Amino acid sequence: MKISERLARGMTFSFEVFPPKNDQSLEPLLETLERLKVFRPDFVSVTYGAGGTNRGRSLEICRALVLGGTDPLAHLTAIGTGREEIRAIVKEYADAGVENILALRGDFPPGWEGTRGDFAHAGALTAFLRAEFGGLCIAVAGYPEKHLEAPAFESDIAHLRAKQDAGASFITLQLCHDVDAYVRYRDRIRRAGVRLPVIAGIMPVLAREGIIKMTLANGCSIPAELAAILGAYARPDQAEDLKKAGMAYTAAQMRRFIAEGIDGIHIFTLNRWEAVSEIVALSGLRAHVMP
Ligand code: FAD
Repeated sequence: MKISERLARGMTFSFEVFPPKNDQSLEPLLETLERLKVFRPDFVSVTYGAGGTNRGRSLEICRALVLGGTDPLAHLTAIGTGREEIRAIVKEYADAGVENILALRGDFPPGWEGTRGDFAHAGALTAFLRAEFGGLCIAVAGYPEKHLEAPAFESDIAHLRAKQDAGASFITLQLCHDVDAYVRYRDRIRRAGVRLPVIAGIMPVLAREGIIKMTLANGCSIPAELAAILGAYARPDQAEDLKKAGMAYTAAQMRRFIAEGIDGIHIFTLNRWEAVSEIVALSGLRAHVMP
């Protein structure tokens, strides 16, 4: 089913997973998907290795999701890829029963020596997909604290609007720990004429170094409340306390996004079903399900 159709019915709840490297077993991820299935996600998104490095694995996971009765959202990056190749990849996904694609520009992997490809930006990829695969549900990325490379918020939002005009179906957001920043962003994009549903990206706070690295690498901020947790449990022997406080913080963030009327909650699971199950339970979002 198309995610746009689910969004038209009400708030969605979903997970993101990443496929293992080509030389690693799929089993742990398949178990993760099975464990997360108890929460009846509206869809599960599957990331795409930078430059399409483990593309085959992404397709395999999408196939497994379709067979198991969960709708996948397949991430797809354009960088270094030509029109013909994109057409063939999306056809393969469509043949596997995938109806939802997240159209991304992508980033050059370190040491990349190939060409830029035929699509300089996600907007161009979106327009191509809409023209070639009319019935596809196309998600695009949004950045509540601005994309790292964008010189100004105005141009970044204008490019988001261009993705809508190119035929995007909904927006899925970069991680954002600062709900106030999200609210300001939402108001700005609405003023700029962006009408698409918006799904929040929830990055679980589980480990000190990991969350700091990931947040800063994406040019996002650490609000005072989260900084206080990271400061209070800074020693290595406090890792478990940090995780506990971080999970409670993440669950509270989900509730805050919902209170602000978000169209969907999308958890970046990091393939950690146990911690994610606890967070979902703490949030009360799927209160009837015992993890
Ligand atoms: P774009 O929308 O093209 O924007 C990139 C930059 O170019 C922005 O600064 C924008 O303002 C600017 N821009 C856009 N259009 C134009 C234009 N016409 N002219 C001039 N400037 C323009 N990466 C992966 O490799 N694999 C993944 O699976 C993956 N999943 C992701 C999931 C989510 C939810 C998000 C938010 C990101 C994900 N990424 C992934 C990372 C993504 O590839 C990078 O953030 C990338 O730098 C930008 O991709 P984009 O689609 O947002 O690009």
